[in-house]
Amino acid sequence: MYQEFGISKEIEELSTKVEKDVESKMKEIEETCTQNSLKVLQAFQNNEIAEMHFGSTTGYGYGDVGRDTIEKVYSEVLKAEDSLVRSQFISGTHALTVTLFALLRPNDTLLSITGKPYDTLDEVIGIKENPSSLKSYSIHFEQIDLIEDEFDYKKIEERLKQGKVKVIEIQRSKGYSSRKSIGIEQLEKVIAFIRNIQKEVIIMIDNCYCEFVTTKEPLEVGADIIVGSLIKNLGGGIAPNGAYVAGRKDLINLVAERLTAPGEGKEVGPTLGINKSILQGLFLAPSVVASSLKTAVFASKMLEELGYETEPKWDAKRADIVQTIHFGDKEKLIKYCQGIQMGSPVDSNSIPMPWDMPGYTDQVIMASGAFTQGSSIELSCDGPIRPPYIAFMQGGLTYEYGKLGVLKAIQNMIG
Ligand SMILES: *Cc1c(COP(=O)(O)O)cnc(C)c1O
Repeated sequence: MYQEFGISKEIEELSTKVEKDVESKMKEIEETCTQNSLKVLQAFQNNEIAEMHFGSTTGYGYGDVGRDTIEKVYSEVLKAEDSLVRSQFISGTHALTVTLFALLRPNDTLLSITGKPYDTLDEVIGIKENPSSLKSYSIHFEQIDLIEDEFDYKKIEERLKQGKVKVIEIQRSKGYSSRKSIGIEQLEKVIAFIRNIQKEVIIMIDNCYCEFVTTKEPLEVGADIIVGSLIKNLGGGIAPNGAYVAGRKDLINLVAERLTAPGEGKEVGPTLGINKSILQGLFLAPSVVASSLKTAVFASKMLEELGYETEPKWDAKRADIVQTIHFGDKEKLIKYCQGIQMGSPVDSNSIPMPWDMPGYTDQVIMASGAFTQGSSIELSCDGPIRPPYIAFMQGGLTYEYGKLGVLKAIQNMIG
């Protein structure tokens, strides 16, 4: 069967062995999926989701009962006082931007304690000059780097004791760095530590790629506000675009008034027919995240067997859906990404090539044969063309399609 798809007998046999080896891990992922599914189902039932919530509004979007109820469902699932779930957020970057501009005022300080934030925030913060950055409004930025994948507790304490930090940003997923992602226990510990020193500082979490990977979310361990994209985990591959922000009611109100207009806040925002997709996406999200995790575990073990360094290891505790593979070789990285494209349902005939992307110093290769443009809850893989030539792979709407994509990529890479 696999040979028809261009997969050799050897790779097929290795795949069969690997699936046996990782069985216990797959079981664990399924159990997490069941718990998160229960959480979602209860939120749907407690909020009495019905046909009328699939309705739509246009124009200003006043009185959109579907939109308002979706936000109640999200709040319940994420244990938030309130939330904003909107297609007017163009991306995760946009939701993070709106949140930062909503929470910070001139002369305030934003402190990242996970080192340099995600690349697309460089111009938002003003790390890279932009006349519309936070910096242009005299909002200061400081960062404290992680040391060996752990928070630098000493530096955090020193800095907070000097006072005057308005917002602390913690980015859980690794982005394009080679660090590990931040697990929920690690997050709980650092938040307790921060609260001991400064009660009022706002703790904001970039939660992209982390939702439903475990059974607890950041607000449950003391964070004030969390942000994520709907073309990643919580959209379940169904939401056509958008992002969410959830957390303290007073803060969500500030974000809403920045997204729309002061005085209008959450009351406006037409849904233009997407309410059903957002609900259906959230309903499927626990399972789609589980499929992505299984795809990552499978890839990690396959590539380990073939002699490559992978992070996380197949049996490690995971904090997000991202799997990195260290190829140590430019050609292999490119071939692997091209193989992921060949194994995709859409644009499988396109061949991605490394190219110069705005905001990146090195060329980047990006493979994504997705139904939704840029969706990375669908199987996708990318990597900056620089040593040690690391691929960042994530997504997989079903494990079976994820596995086929990984096999195609491996075969294309080893030739
Ligand atoms: C994807 C991602 C973002 C940005 O989201 P976009 O929707 O791509 O703009 C921000 N932070 C992290 C950690 C991400 O993974």
